[in-house]
Amino acid sequence: MSETLCVIALGGNLGDVPAAFRRACEALSNAGFRIRRFSSLYRTAPVGCEANAPEFTNAALSGFWDGTAPGLLQLCQRIEADNGRPNDHAHHVSRTLDLDIILFGRETVDLPDLKIPHPEAARRAFVMDPLREIEPELANWLLSVAEEDPGGMRN
Ligand code: ADP
Ligand code: MG
Repeated sequence: MSETLCVIALGGNLGDVPAAFRRACEALSNAGFRIRRFSSLYRTAPVGCEANAPEFTNAALSGFWDGTAPGLLQLCQRIEADNGRPNDHAHHVSRTLDLDIILFGRETVDLPDLKIPHPEAARRAFVMDPLREIEPELANWLLSVAEEDPGGMRN
């Protein structure tokens, strides 16, 4: 299978988040994901989390993956679990490590447990700012797709 240029957004607001990001990069690389670029770290106010949730640290990375999108999701979820994130984790609560697949090349994936481009990405500065830093062309493409299909991106 040929390689796909993917973008993963990283976030966390519990524990040593930069260390969790480093472990995530190592685990991705060990599984064959070839990291191409890694953004600066962005400090952001929590969105929709519980009251008084600590600030988030966010970043994005791009790289090449020669498997399927569900395969990459499975890998990301294993890395989240290895970094102390419970499986039954609710949306929008504090977490040690969150890995979201933002882009899988320019493909659209619409499975019950996997939507790509990530439906909320275009509206989130903490995703778009690091994405623009590392892959400006993909950032522009994502914005143009979101504009064309705002309903779809919000599903
Ligand atoms: P959020 O990242 O919105 O806070 P979670 O990380 O808790 O929420 O959500 C995890 C769920 O989101 C997973 O069960 C996964 O199946 C689903 N999901 C859908 N699309 C994606 C995607 N593009 N990347 C990562 N997870 C996704
Ligand atoms: Mg997530």
